[in-house]
Amino acid sequence: MTADGTRVELAANIGTAAEAKAAAEQGAGGVGLFRTEFLFMNAPAMPGEEEQFRAYREAAAAMDGRPVIIRTMDIGGDKALPYLDLPREDNPFLGYRAIRIGLGRQDLLKDQLRAVLRASAFGNVKVMFPMISGLQEWREAKGVLEEAKEELRRSGAAFDERIEAGIMVEVPSAAVMAGAFAREVDFFSIGTNDLVQYTLAVDRMNDKVAYLYDYFHPAVLQLIRQVIEASHRAGKWTGMCGGMAGDPLAAPLLLGLGLDEWSMEAGRLGVIKKELSALDREACRSLADSVLTLDTPQAVRQALEEFRRAIGHTL
Ligand code: PEP
Ligand code: MG
Repeated sequence: MTADGTRVELAANIGTAAEAKAAAEQGAGGVGLFRTEFLFMNAPAMPGEEEQFRAYREAAAAMDGRPVIIRTMDIGGDKALPYLDLPREDNPFLGYRAIRIGLGRQDLLKDQLRAVLRASAFGNVKVMFPMISGLQEWREAKGVLEEAKEELRRSGAAFDERIEAGIMVEVPSAAVMAGAFAREVDFFSIGTNDLVQYTLAVDRMNDKVAYLYDYFHPAVLQLIRQVIEASHRAGKWTGMCGGMAGDPLAAPLLLGLGLDEWSMEAGRLGVIKKELSALDREACRSLADSVLTLDTPQAVRQALEEFRRAIGHTL
C-alpha cells in the first residue's frame, strides 16, 4: 500500500517451484515470473507433461491462492538446451528463441500448456508467452493454448476455464503495438532486461557496451508509458518483471506511470516495499510527467535522485 492508500502488487521472480515457497516466506504477494526454462536446463532430458505439472502445482500451492504467472519456456539466446539440438547461430538473441521455438515445436509448447492448465486447478495460475514481437505470434500461441484446453476437456481433466493469458513486452515492436495487443491479451508484463537490449541495440551480456545499457533511457521510458496506458485504456493491467522493477530509484517513476505489479528477485522485495509504502501517487504522477520530457538517461537519473533526496530517501 502506498502512502496515499493505492494498492499495488509485489511479486517474486522464481526459477524453481522450491523458490515459490521461499518467496512466500519473504512476503511475496505472488509470483510475477516463473522462469520455467530452468526446469528444462536442469534436466538430462526433456521433462514431460507430468513432471512439469508437479512443479507448477507445487508453486501454485506454495502461493496459496495468490497469483502465479508461469512463462512458457524461454530457451535460446544465452540459454542452451543440449538435448534439443538447436542450430548454432550468429545472432542468438535475434534468432530462434523463446516463443519462436515454442511455435516451431508446438508439440513441446502444448505439453507445457497442458501442464500449466492442469496446475491451474490448484491455485491462481496465469500463463505468459515470452518474446512476442507481433500479433500473429500471440494469436498462434493462444491457439495452441485453446487446443490444450480442448484436449483437457475431452479427457475430463480439471483446469481453470478463466485462466488469464498475457505476454511479455520485451521486444520494442510489441510495445509500439500495445494498443492492438491490449484488445486481446489479459495482461502485459514488461521485461526490461530484453526490452533495453532490443530498443537500444546493446547486447545485455557485453561488458564493452554496458555503459549504454540503461533502462532510464528516454526511449525505453516512452515505451513503458505507452504499454501501461494502452493496457489501462482497455481495462487490462501491466506488470514488470525485468531488473528495473527491483530498483528503488525507479519505483516513484513506475508508480507515477501507473504500473500495477512489480516482480523481482525475492531478496529485493523488502527494499521496494519500503520505498513504495512511503510514496504518494499524485506526487509521483507529476514526477513522471516531468521526467518523460527529459532527453538523456543521465538527466533522468539526476531528476529521480533529486526527488528521492527531497522526500528524505537515500540509496
Ligand atoms: C526480461 O527480459 O526482462 C525478463 C524478465 O526475462 P529474462 O531476464 O528471463 O530474459
Ligand atoms: Mg527476457
